[in-house]
Amino acid sequence: DELISQIAAGEVVERPASVVRELIDNALDAGAREVVVRLAGGGVRLVAVEDDGCGIPRHELPLALQRHATSKIRDLAELEAVATMGFRGEALAAIASVAELTLTSRSADAADGCAWALQTSSGELRPAARPPGTTVEVRELFFRTPARRKFLKSEATELAHCVEAVRRHALARPDVGFAVWHEGRLLHRWPAAQALTPELAWQRRVADALGEEFLTATLPVEAAAGPLRLRGRIVRPDAAGGRGERQFAYVNGRFVRDRVIAHAVRCAYDDVLHGQRQPSYVLWLELDPRTVDVNVHPTKIEVRFRDSGAVHQAVQHALEAALARPRA
Ligand code: ADP
Ligand code: MG
Repeated sequence: DELISQIAAGEVVERPASVVRELIDNALDAGAREVVVRLAGGGVRLVAVEDDGCGIPRHELPLALQRHATSKIRDLAELEAVATMGFRGEALAAIASVAELTLTSRSADAADGCAWALQTSSGELRPAARPPGTTVEVRELFFRTPARRKFLKSEATELAHCVEAVRRHALARPDVGFAVWHEGRLLHRWPAAQALTPELAWQRRVADALGEEFLTATLPVEAAAGPLRLRGRIVRPDAAGGRGERQFAYVNGRFVRDRVIAHAVRCAYDDVLHGQRQPSYVLWLELDPRTVDVNVHPTKIEVRFRDSGAVHQAVQHALEAALARPRA
């Protein structure tokens, strides 16, 4: 079972940034409004994610670490229309098999008003103090699998990947505040949008997480095609080709790498950029969850659309309209 867990871990946990991604997924699923990420040694020595979500009751702490134990999906019908970031119930178990994991949580409705900390290697459960919410601390990633540890890059590179993982989540959730610390130094703080219109909230988060330059170099996209809604920012053709092209695509709040979307973007820019470069964009797609399969890859970074032709067309048309080009 230990071996099976480690093999599964290989699919989910590739580097510290994978831990960051999975822990933030969980924090968001728990309804967090503030997420604090603390790192040390580029995330290899420590990844800690602290949230103010619903917490985990004491008796459920050991369950959270069991393989294929998820509190989020009860039946197949729910798997057909996943609304949470997690659903496979393997992240914490996988991480705990390749690192030291401590789970400290206080359930919002804990009768004892007490927090509990579970240390996975010893199985020790002890009382702790913290406001409602959860902190997951992951130390010494791959300490028992030196072969895996050897594949990690420099501290600076791993740190950059960790920050990118936070940025991907932050761009999906302007209503949630994010902070990233490395060895006691605050690297980023992206505050939750308060009392802003949704449009302004998105703009603010894009400016915070990608820089004012990104905002001024891009045009807004806003479109609807049947049940599909699309919004985002795409680079102005005259601003394209600068440094730091960045591509962020989201499907129902989940960051994805998707060929259909990427190809549709390239088609929309075809005449403008002559295919020299990948234009920068942030695109948020919302569509009926039953028409997209997110259970394609263990890291959930790939999706499969039931009607990829319709998605392609909607994205391309929305971008062409934003670029103010008449359609052929
Ligand atoms: P999944 O997210 O697919 O359910 P995980 O292994 O990531 O699986 O987490 C296992 C379970 O632990 C979750 O279903 C949830 O019940 C609980 N859990 C993990 N992290 C948190 C958190 N930050 N807040 C509340 N519950 C959590
Ligand atoms: Mg999860």
